[in-house]
Amino acid sequence: MLQQMGLPPGSAPDVWNLTHPDAVKALHRQYCEAGADLIYTNTFGGTRIRLKREGLDDQVRQINLAGAQLARSVAEEFGDRIVFGDRIVFGDLGPTGELLAPVGTLPYEVAMDAFAEQAAALAEGGVDAFIVETLSDLEESRAAIEGIRSVSVLPIAVTLSFDTRGRTMFGVKPEQAIKVLLDLGVTIAGANCGRTLSETLEAVLKMRAVAPEARLMAKPNAGLPHTENSALVYEVSPEAMADYAVRFVTEAGVRILGGCCGSTPEHIRAIAAALKPFKQWGAA
Ligand SMILES: [Zn+2]
Repeated sequence: MLQQMGLPPGSAPDVWNLTHPDAVKALHRQYCEAGADLIYTNTFGGTRIRLKREGLDDQVRQINLAGAQLARSVAEEFGDRIVFGDRIVFGDLGPTGELLAPVGTLPYEVAMDAFAEQAAALAEGGVDAFIVETLSDLEESRAAIEGIRSVSVLPIAVTLSFDTRGRTMFGVKPEQAIKVLLDLGVTIAGANCGRTLSETLEAVLKMRAVAPEARLMAKPNAGLPHTENSALVYEVSPEAMADYAVRFVTEAGVRILGGCCGSTPEHIRAIAAALKPFKQWGAA
């Protein structure tokens, strides 16, 4: 979405929180208008480790603080204080992009400190909770959870990407992931990104089978992309995604549902309409 607004392919979207704040807000607004109850901050690559690749590691706090403030200000524009307050803002933390030792060279404490630094700025900017997403490694997930916990008591959600024959790139199965994440004290766990809607549904069903009481969330991609005139086009229509949204809720008991890569405001609009009968804010 940001690339359509002019972000050069391959450059860090997070820096737009500082350089193009109005574009980031406009995008948040489009999703709120489409019916999103919850938005993520534009800070997926906001750890020091990831920003260093762009030479932006001296701006970790500013990028994340601005990301939280931009999302918060749009959430407040859409506030419905009588029913459930403002739209909810999750502070988004993605993978560091490096492999933890001993598989790679990144020391556990360095990863933990990077997540703590990012989370502190997101909390300062006013997020309601944290989402650690698209992870593949349970050790990196643990580093993120411990890092966040060292600076904030806000709820933590963690979703892994099961994109490799039903497992994460690290070979983690959904059943194993949910147990470890619940033991680590997360409030919400689930699956995001991945490849197809059916594979992500399967992952969440496997979590549900071993964790009947868990608060689960899912944020599947709008299918897989192909290239058309040098632009990425995702294959799943808003209608197809909305059909799956109902299955995530009725079959897997998912409490929070969203759209990852390729999900336009039109996808969210279709999902919001399909899920309207299932809204239970009191129970959530
Ligand atoms: Zn994705």
